[in-house]
Amino acid sequence: MKKILLHSCCAPCSGAVLERLATDFRITIYYYNPNIDTPLEFMRRAEELEKLTKLGIDFDVVTEEYRPDEYNAAVRGLESLGEGSQRCYECYKLRLGKTADYAARHGYDFFTTTLSVSPHKKVAWIHEIGRELERATGVRYLDEDFKKRDGYRRSLELSRTLKLYRQNYCGCKYSKAEAERRSQPMPSTTHANCNAHKP
Ligand code: SF4
Repeated sequence: MKKILLHSCCAPCSGAVLERLATDFRITIYYYNPNIDTPLEFMRRAEELEKLTKLGIDFDVVTEEYRPDEYNAAVRGLESLGEGSQRCYECYKLRLGKTADYAARHGYDFFTTTLSVSPHKKVAWIHEIGRELERATGVRYLDEDFKKRDGYRRSLELSRTLKLYRQNYCGCKYSKAEAERRSQPMPSTTHANCNAHKP
């Protein structure tokens, strides 16, 4: 079986992806997320991955140290931009870059990421970065959009079944502030944009 390194942003986004990959690959989850706003939140999301063993799928987990400086350097000058902006492009690039590098150094056949499960992420950017890294490292990038073929619905279902902690913001302190602003009551003449779980 081919070996795949699966970058994981959190447990809720990872369950359905594990199910999809398990028949074709030997999977290692790679938890590298220096974008997360606090060490506590970083650990909480990391520990939640343990619950995915209940799926009965064999996988290993590699957890990288929490190094927020790496994220801060990657998005310097872009902090005030909103979600879905160039800030997020640089954030994807940092996390995928580290994943591809680890995959190349440890003899993986493929790498990919759970980021595409979220409807709030820009899949075209994720694939563009992944293909560029494939050319640079020689490790194949699996360019799946994991929300498709019912992937997003299944991820929600598994989150409920496995009682996973589901954060209501993407990860960085900027996305947390945006989520808090969104949760403020809106004037009665307008409609709030429902934008809850943002893995
Ligand atoms: S909103 Fe999410 S993807 Fe964008 S910079 Fe923050 S953590 Fe990264």
